Amino acid sequence: SVKDADGVRNVVDIINSIDERVFVIISAMGKTTNALEGVLESFYNDQKEEALAKLQTIMDNHNKILANLYGYPYIPKKILFFYQELENIITVHDPSNRRYEMWYDLIVSYGELLSTAIISDYMKSREMSNRWIDMRTCFVTNNRYKDANIDIQTSSKRLLKIVNSSSEPVLIGQGFIGATLDGVTTTIGREGSDYSAAVAGAILNAASVSIWKDVDGILNGDPKIFKDAQLIPELTYVDAIELAYSGAQIIHPKTMKPL
Ligand code: ASP
Ligand code: MG
Repeated sequence: SVKDADGVRNVVDIINSIDERVFVIISAMGKTTNALEGVLESFYNDQKEEALAKLQTIMDNHNKILANLYGYPYIPKKILFFYQELENIITVHDPSNRRYEMWYDLIVSYGELLSTAIISDYMKSREMSNRWIDMRTCFVTNNRYKDANIDIQTSSKRLLKIVNSSSEPVLIGQGFIGATLDGVTTTIGREGSDYSAAVAGAILNAASVSIWKDVDGILNGDPKIFKDAQLIPELTYVDAIELAYSGAQIIHPKTMKPL
């Protein structure tokens, strides 16, 4: 839903239309996660130039979205900082110093850091009060890099502390990422942002969790393949879990349990 500037404007309008206090979990923009996986491959194979070139494409994409949102070239400080951190990782570090999965999480997690920072900043420019939250400081996970599980108990304390100590009507955090107790960045599995949202919803005792996708809801088939796919207006948790585990890609299988 946030693959381009129109998508961002749409998401911001949706957030704006909600009267209650809202915690927004956002995934990476468009195909950024795949693109970052490409950066990682090159870096891990010691092809630093190639990694930097791939990173440049990612930065150009984000800069294009920013320019479209603001109407002139503009890159917020936090974004520049993240770009620099990524460039640093690639140029300074020796890939053989860490396990592949650790590099994966360190590099691929930037997709969500970038998207959330862009949206938070853009909302501020439209005078919509919000707070950007680094979910690596809230979601504590085990050290199963690339497929980490969130420790709900420890994460509860951290997330509640931040939410209860802030007054903004909108809180914005990243899906898909967390950190170990030692503060090392982790990711929770591809398409994991739904799971992040469900965990946040459970911890915060949210009235509801809404997942915005690029389709109208859960359909009985992939509308790209089946032109006459029908919308399923309501499903029980059990049916939704069964669909998710059977491979319907609409909701991440881990999502249902915290809900
Ligand atoms: N950005 C991550 C991915 O593409 C997480 C997500 O989309 O939920 O897998
Ligand atoms: Mg995604």
